[in-house]
This record gives sequence, structure tokens and C-alpha cells, in this order.
Amino acid sequence: MQEIINNLPKQAKDKHNENKKFFAKLKKKAPKNMDYIMQELHDQEFKNTDCLECANCCKTTGPLFTDKDIDRISKFFRMKPQQFINQYLRIDEEQDYVLQAVPCTFLGADNYCSIYEVRPKACREFPHTDRKKFQQISNLTLKNVAICPAAFNIVEAMKKRIK
Ligand code: SF4
Ligand code: SF4
Repeated sequence: MQEIINNLPKQAKDKHNENKKFFAKLKKKAPKNMDYIMQELHDQEFKNTDCLECANCCKTTGPLFTDKDIDRISKFFRMKPQQFINQYLRIDEEQDYVLQAVPCTFLGADNYCSIYEVRPKACREFPHTDRKKFQQISNLTLKNVAICPAAFNIVEAMKKRIK
């Protein structure tokens, strides 16, 4: 898995123009059953992908934390939300709360998340490949294929499936 992760930025770069063109076309005209296709491709890929062998998202890019996430996680730690913010978060250029540092401080050496049950919504949804109207987040996906081997494979499978 580590070798796949190491090669991913180069592979994603090689596919970048092709992917960009594919998503531009898809934005103009997506198949009627797009959401269904994405669910199928997502499920198929994650049947074969063990995130515990990877954790590259947790290691290289942190989630953003919504107010609801902060409330839920600080309660889990029996902390005041402000205390939690001070200890773990900062505000980024887009005025969102993000982690002060990556790898994520809640990631264990065994790749388990120590706050799994209460983890941020963004972590639960990453890499967003089963979300509705997936073609609308193409800019994010173009970045995610360089981080997430599953997202990379899903986009490759999309290009074969949707002509
Ligand atoms: S979501 Fe993607 S990057 Fe994150 S652990 Fe799973 S395969 Fe790896
Ligand atoms: S909170 Fe958990 S799932 Fe989210 S980045 Fe950190 S370790 Fe990964």
C-alpha cells in the first residue's frame, strides 16, 4: 500500500489533464443515473480497499471542523468547545476550523482513529465519491485523487464506465 501511496501524486499528475477534460464534459451532461453509478463504483472500490492499511487522508490532509463537530468532539473529551479549539484547531485562509497540524493528532500508530464514533463529518464523508451530483465537486476530486488511492481508482473506473 505504501508504494501505491508514494506513486499516487505522480500518477494523479499524469492523469490531471485527462481527468479535468472528463469532468468538464460531465458537468455539461451527466448520465441520468449518475448517483446510482457513483454509489456502485464507490461500493465496489471500498470492498477492496482497507482504509486501515492506508490512512493517507488522516496523515496528509486534515478535515474541516464544523460547529457541530466541535460541540460533539469536545463533549466526548469533556472539554469546553473553546478549550478544544485552543488545543487542537486553527482558522485557515477560508475561515474554517482545521487541525493545527497533520498527521491528525487523533490518528494512532495503528491507523485507528481515536475519536472514530464522533469524528468530523468531513472524515465520515471523505473521499465524497458516493455523494449526490458527484460531478459538482470535480475541483476537490482532482486534488483528492493525488491523496486517496480509492478516489483515484474510482475516477479511473468512472472514465471507463461513462463514455
Ligand atoms: S479514504 Fe482514501 S486516503 Fe483515506 S484511508 Fe481510505 S483509501 Fe486511504
Ligand atoms: S479525526 Fe480521525 S478520521 Fe478524521 S483525520 Fe483525524 S484520525 Fe482521521
